[in-house]
Amino acid sequence: MSHAILKSLGLDQTLSGTYLGQGEWSATTDAGTLQPTNPATGEVIASVPATSAADYEKLIARAQAAFKIWRTTPAPQRGEAVRLCGEALRKHKDALGSLVALEMGKIKPEGDGEVQEMIDIADFAVGQSRMLYGYTMHSERPGHRMYDQYHPLGLVGIISAFNFPVAVWAWNAMLATIAGDICIWKPSPKTPLSAIATIRICNEALKDGGFPDLFFLFNDAGSELAQKFVDDKRIPLISFTGSTKVGRMVGERVAKRMGRSLLELGGNNAIILDESAELKLAIPAIVFGAVGTAGQRCTSTRRLFVHESIHDTVVDTLVKAYSQVEGKIGDPTLATTLMGPLNSPDAVQAYLAAIEKAKAAGGNVRSGGKALTDRKGNFVLPTIITGLKNDDEVVQTETFAPILYVMPFKTLDEAIELQNSVPQGLSAAIFTQNLKAAEQYLSAAGSDCGIANVNIGTSGAEIGGAFGGEKDTGGGRESGSDAWKVYMRRQTNTINYSDALPLAQGIKFEF
Ligand code: NAD
Repeated sequence: MSHAILKSLGLDQTLSGTYLGQGEWSATTDAGTLQPTNPATGEVIASVPATSAADYEKLIARAQAAFKIWRTTPAPQRGEAVRLCGEALRKHKDALGSLVALEMGKIKPEGDGEVQEMIDIADFAVGQSRMLYGYTMHSERPGHRMYDQYHPLGLVGIISAFNFPVAVWAWNAMLATIAGDICIWKPSPKTPLSAIATIRICNEALKDGGFPDLFFLFNDAGSELAQKFVDDKRIPLISFTGSTKVGRMVGERVAKRMGRSLLELGGNNAIILDESAELKLAIPAIVFGAVGTAGQRCTSTRRLFVHESIHDTVVDTLVKAYSQVEGKIGDPTLATTLMGPLNSPDAVQAYLAAIEKAKAAGGNVRSGGKALTDRKGNFVLPTIITGLKNDDEVVQTETFAPILYVMPFKTLDEAIELQNSVPQGLSAAIFTQNLKAAEQYLSAAGSDCGIANVNIGTSGAEIGGAFGGEKDTGGGRESGSDAWKVYMRRQTNTINYSDALPLAQGIKFEF
């Protein structure tokens, strides 16, 4: 199975993890290897040589040279390059979606959906390439004109997490490319194959279209080279997606060298159901949010606040829905599967440890609570736990697994306060039919998250909106709206077309 998927993308079992530019993949094999593993079976899929320090230097030098050409290429032409990448991804959607499912462990429709997100952001970026708008301002001085414009930034470093092994790169790379930047990608060591396949597809399309190298790739077996990347002054922007623990360190180090960072870190996302919530909308949203991708989305629903009047009904309904999912846990590449495995044995341990902690704090496991030890792979049962308080440590922590903590509340003020009382601030939602409750929830005194929804769940964002979150989620925004601006440097220009030199603020400086 895995051979067929690799073959369909032209990948053999021993690959290079380093794209050096000029059509060259590194032949270095002495920098260690990555061993991407099928999370559903525990088998190693392929062996990927990591990048050496010498190759890293080579690719940075080539990326710098490529930037000198790309920064002066007209933006709509840059859009054409991205259009070709989107077209190529369309052609390979099925095969690449299967590879994502195989390597990451998400189910095939979600793997395909991830590739669709890449296509969508490519389409978005094509349009954006004609809309890199700045303002014109009225000067206070006669015979003067002021405006601002956006120039390319330079090399953009993209460090991505295992759970979205390709889409996160595209959210960044498609916009950075139309902005005139050159992207260098360091993917998760757990998902190098999806990254290699993506770079091959896009670079082939660029080559066929007569475009220069725009996308470089390196892989690190540990974190030494990744750390060097973060500290590298030649990279003005590091876009980092991953845990708050690593992201905090990345943010601090990039700030120390006065670089720019875009941080997309952990979430602890909540849904509120008030007394009026329509359960036929809310229940599927909760199940998809908490169980989808086996709880391994940054936007997965982890906390559920239910009005006390409907708490027991909601828990009973969810327990029934979970029992139906239990029968559909298995190989993520099969069409009948609803929930795949966790990505690693460590993730299973973290899931079990969280459940033990929850029980010790007085939690009641209402559904799930076990790893599936009757089979190979990192399979667990989706879990519902009641009886905990929002400030219990385990509830405050993002455990990257399908565990949902359900807690009752009496008033909306209390529910909003509870929802916001966690370190993270990514995604949150309310289910209500009460207009006043919805507006209060979206007001300045409502949800404190970067994404706040009404009558849809916490996960499954569209690329058209800016994506990201507040507090320990890092504050970054990528994808839609005006997120493109982070990939460019802003310049304010004042032009004097008069015969005088009036100073601003009426200052006289005569000599
Ligand atoms: P992780 O922090 O373990 O790894 C993320 C990336 O950082 C990987 O590429 C890893 O190799 C790299 N890395 C590790 N040490 C490094 C170092 N010292 N210097 C530079 N890079 C280093 O995260 P993960 O387990 O791959 O992903 C899961 C986490 O990512 C969760 O917390 C999830 O919420 C978060 N996430 C957030 C978003 C978002 O948009 N907010 C999206 C996806 C995932």
